[in-house]
Amino acid sequence: MIIDSHVHVWGNKDWLPDWSWNMLNSLQASRFGKTIDEMAIYREKSLDPDGDSMVRNMHRVGVDKAMICVVDYGLVIEGEDNRLSIEEINHQHYEIVKRHPDKFYLAVGVDPRRPNALEIIETGVKEWGAKALKLYPAAGWYPNDMIVYPLYEKCVELGIPVNFHTGPMASPFRSKYTHPIHFDDVAVDFPELTLYCTHAGHGSFMEMIAVARSKANIVCDLSGWLSWIRSGESLSFYKAWRYMMNMLGSNRLMFASDTTNLIDDIEYAAWIKAVTSIPEEIKKAGITFSDSEMEDFFSKTSKRVLNLDENL
Ligand SMILES: [Zn+2]
Repeated sequence: MIIDSHVHVWGNKDWLPDWSWNMLNSLQASRFGKTIDEMAIYREKSLDPDGDSMVRNMHRVGVDKAMICVVDYGLVIEGEDNRLSIEEINHQHYEIVKRHPDKFYLAVGVDPRRPNALEIIETGVKEWGAKALKLYPAAGWYPNDMIVYPLYEKCVELGIPVNFHTGPMASPFRSKYTHPIHFDDVAVDFPELTLYCTHAGHGSFMEMIAVARSKANIVCDLSGWLSWIRSGESLSFYKAWRYMMNMLGSNRLMFASDTTNLIDDIEYAAWIKAVTSIPEEIKKAGITFSDSEMEDFFSKTSKRVLNLDENL
């Protein structure tokens, strides 16, 4: 059983402000060996309004279930909101999850500066069965800003974790907001809240793990780490993964991809292969994982964190 606890499905371009569509094209172009224009066409073709393409991708790479996360980039640049309202964007994600109930879970998403943020979370959880709240601090606020605290209170009340992007992010997002240290206050002030820190801080992972090690209510995922392997730093990646498991325990580190669901996504397949078939030379170098650690990593921890059925 492989649960991908953090993915994105792009249903249509109206879920984003125009600038972010273009930004993501240039961010991904070099990774896929394409020009920005080619990437734009590829992404356009990959738009997946009903989630069917994502299900095909999961089947192709061997992923059983996935949590689809809504992102709200609408307040990053003043006056350049998402093309659709955030209520409608969340609702369209819910429709996708509803269409594939045996495949998907929902993480509702909203910028905490929106006046109706609490309402969106409540509707998402109570009416649509959302399993988490997705927050994106790089959009312009610190996780420990008081403006976010009512959202945390709501999540404690509803019994759901908060999934945060952590680690550096491309412009116009600001990386200072997602530095691991800012999650420490939240973990202290909300001991009953589970802080799910995606990417484990990525380039700032030592700080993220240091903070998480001292706070039992922080869990991390390993999404976004394929770039280490691709840059020829394969051994460093497996060492870092092993280090994180040693520091947090295997029950606080989850598998995730953060895939953006491109048709026949080569990154998704490569990432699954990297974590499911550890190369012999890595094992010979002494980096190994036990069966029970792998079970925690691929499904057991996400079942606990997201309150999923244990007998899946
Ligand atoms: Zn993500």
